[in-house]
Amino acid sequence: MDESPAKPSSGYGPGCRVTVLLPLPLPGTYDYRVGDNMALGEGDIVRVPFGKRVLAGVVWGSGDDRGIATSKLKTILQKPDTPPLPEESMRFVEWIAAYTLSERGAVLKMVIGVPAALEPPKPVLAYALDPAAPEIRMTRERIRVFEFLNGGAPPLPLTELARQASVRPSVVAGLKKAGVLQTFEMPSLPPPRRQPDWAARGPSLSAQQTAAGDDLAAKTRAGGFAATLLDGVPGSGKTEVYFQAVAQALKQGRQALVLLPEIALSAQWMARFVARFEAAPAVWHSELSPAQRRDTWRDVALGRARVIVGARSALLLPYPDLGLIVVDEEHESAFKQEEGVIYNARDMAVVRASLGRIPVVLVSATPSLETVVNVRTGRYRSWCLPDRHGGADLPEVSLIDMRRDAPPGGRWLSPQLRQALSDTFAAGEQAMLFLNRRGYAPLTLCRTCGHRFQCPNCTAWLVEHRRAGKNRLQCHHCGYGATTPQKCPSCGGEGNFAACGPGVERLAEEAAEAFPDVRMEIAASDTIAGPAAAAALVERIETHRVDLIVGTQIVAKGYHFPMLTLVGVVDADLGLTGGDLRAAERTFQLLYQVAGRAGRARHPGRVLVQTYMPDHPVMQALQSGRRDRFIAAECEARKEAGMPPFGRLAALIVSGRDAREVDAAAAALGRAAPDFKGALILGPAPAPLAMVRGQHRRRFLVRADKSVNVQRLITDWLAGVVISRKVRVRADIDPYGFL
Ligand code: ADP
Ligand code: ZN
Repeated sequence: MDESPAKPSSGYGPGCRVTVLLPLPLPGTYDYRVGDNMALGEGDIVRVPFGKRVLAGVVWGSGDDRGIATSKLKTILQKPDTPPLPEESMRFVEWIAAYTLSERGAVLKMVIGVPAALEPPKPVLAYALDPAAPEIRMTRERIRVFEFLNGGAPPLPLTELARQASVRPSVVAGLKKAGVLQTFEMPSLPPPRRQPDWAARGPSLSAQQTAAGDDLAAKTRAGGFAATLLDGVPGSGKTEVYFQAVAQALKQGRQALVLLPEIALSAQWMARFVARFEAAPAVWHSELSPAQRRDTWRDVALGRARVIVGARSALLLPYPDLGLIVVDEEHESAFKQEEGVIYNARDMAVVRASLGRIPVVLVSATPSLETVVNVRTGRYRSWCLPDRHGGADLPEVSLIDMRRDAPPGGRWLSPQLRQALSDTFAAGEQAMLFLNRRGYAPLTLCRTCGHRFQCPNCTAWLVEHRRAGKNRLQCHHCGYGATTPQKCPSCGGEGNFAACGPGVERLAEEAAEAFPDVRMEIAASDTIAGPAAAAALVERIETHRVDLIVGTQIVAKGYHFPMLTLVGVVDADLGLTGGDLRAAERTFQLLYQVAGRAGRARHPGRVLVQTYMPDHPVMQALQSGRRDRFIAAECEARKEAGMPPFGRLAALIVSGRDAREVDAAAAALGRAAPDFKGALILGPAPAPLAMVRGQHRRRFLVRADKSVNVQRLITDWLAGVVISRKVRVRADIDPYGFL
């Protein structure tokens, strides 16, 4: 088709043998015969019979002549009207599969997993003059239609013809009925996208911003792989800076991709983009409607979408001409996909940029240690923006030592934090209380017998939720939920339950008691249903129709609220417990980001951090604002332990419904664990969440020197062990979640 930007490279004519990769969790490809009247090239999307089904797959190369005779192969059924998968996308699929030890087909599914996009667009009826038209009575509107069509206008769908000829649709319908117009089927095209305007004027940038923006734009113009960290304090204008590079990609007619960790919540980002480029970008995330998915996928594949903003899955779209990738909030663990193909979109973005020989920009106020070390060793360049735009000061951070100043039992706001809230409301300003825990209370127990409510499917306590007057117990891992019972299931005691610990709902209750006149909202993933609700909340905060936000990490990132001057971190220690390698790093990143919400405009902000560990390096770094010293200390510790980014880490997760089978498989793997130079294999051990969704889980951890090929190690290891089919073994390369 003429709009497809790339033409297939090599040709396979009728009777040729080609091999096709199918979007199924299978490592191999399958050979097919090219049908009559068909010319195919590598990357072409085709429909093939597979068992009893018909599947869309991709021509991956020429077939293997040693198998079944070509004449006996099944024939390719059809080549849908879809542009071929670009060669870079094919290489990217291979790369991800090899790195993550996933089946190539499973990775391909992430690329072409929008079956509707492969259907030819539904034809529409187009209207044109019938040369054999009878004489009819003319009206002024009818004449307008005649003149419009006689003036060389192409056949058009009814509503479009009516609009362009400035008549009512019924006039067109009447002309058809009278036999003056004829109709025929025409392929439909989605309405043209309004393209972002690279030449639109952005804000005038500071000297620092200009230097960074010019460099990123120059790299985009020059092409070639280059990884750059854009490191700047919250509010320093990083977005405006990387928009310079986006503008450059647009100017060259290439596509630009911006990855955001939580696209569903990015209303402010969208508004900024539209303000800068005078048109909206194409958006890609899991909450698109099927029609939006189909149109966006096709627009990307056809090169009609020039700027794409999306969640991690947007990285796998079939870009024919990608010229730039930006990963905003690159430190975010939301870039790690933990289900199916386990990959980190931040790392794979760098790979994609290198395959496509284009620049990638990693953006953060709290870069990951991986990225910091890559800058140190010279693999990445970096730009630093140390000042807030407009000279606003960074907020002052004070620690509240909860060992001395804790509130009475059952309350969570220290006297200092209460006072600060009170002062803030009195001054007519906004405050935010941050607690990274949904619901009312993380644990409920029976006062009589001590029974604790536990999820039947997971090794986890049930979390009490009390919103909308309903008392429910929910599992935050599998979604299990039940109404809080009247009687204790263990001792039969009547309704004598204690809620232990706070969640945002309980905190909101305490705040409402203390400040009855304050307008308050809870912001958590279960109170904000989707992008529209998030945008509405953001607007209520921006227009100061809310005085106090009680929120989880959902409000910690990226937002800019000019009237917000106080941030209270209720339990700063929450993320530090548990055996997570990155616990300190993550806690620091999260709290630093939360703190960055305060005082972003003219009003100075302050941040109060409640902690039982005021001497912990994370708390000290927050208070002193010495991020780099914290990073340096964290680096030293990791280096000494041989942990990432100085060593390599991979996990092997063994899971299944039957605990005995799982244990047997884990034991067999343990016995077969290879003795590999430079690698240490730990386990099997029950995963910290030993059961999730009814699946029992055991895990191994491989810790290896940087030089070790852990993929090889794991492949060889697994090849030597026979595992029950009831047990699943999955590799997680560079694990983030340690649950
Ligand atoms: P960051 O991403 O570093 O936190 P942002 O890009 O969100 O910072 O910028 C913070 C605020 O400052 C935004 O409202 C942005 O529009 C504004 N801003 C940044 N740089 C400029 C500039 N050069 N001129 C005008 N406004 C700017
Ligand atoms: Zn559960």
